[in-house]
Amino acid sequence: MEEAFMPALIGAVATAAVLIIFIVFRKPAKCEKCGAEQPKVRTPENMNQAMWGGYTCPGCGSQLDARGKLKKA
Ligand SMILES: [Zn+2]
Repeated sequence: MEEAFMPALIGAVATAAVLIIFIVFRKPAKCEKCGAEQPKVRTPENMNQAMWGGYTCPGCGSQLDARGKLKKA
């Protein structure tokens, strides 16, 4: 039995729990331009969104960062 296994597993579970809590309970970002709330579950449309978060506004199509600020593409 690996002695380091349990602490590592507990750490991984705790990290996952924190991430889930963060995702579920954070307020949705609002589009700076049109005020539309951005969906919590987003599908990254490109590598940049996958890496850094951010949205393509469903209301006006603007590129937004993770906080709903307009990005200057
Ligand atoms: Zn918008």
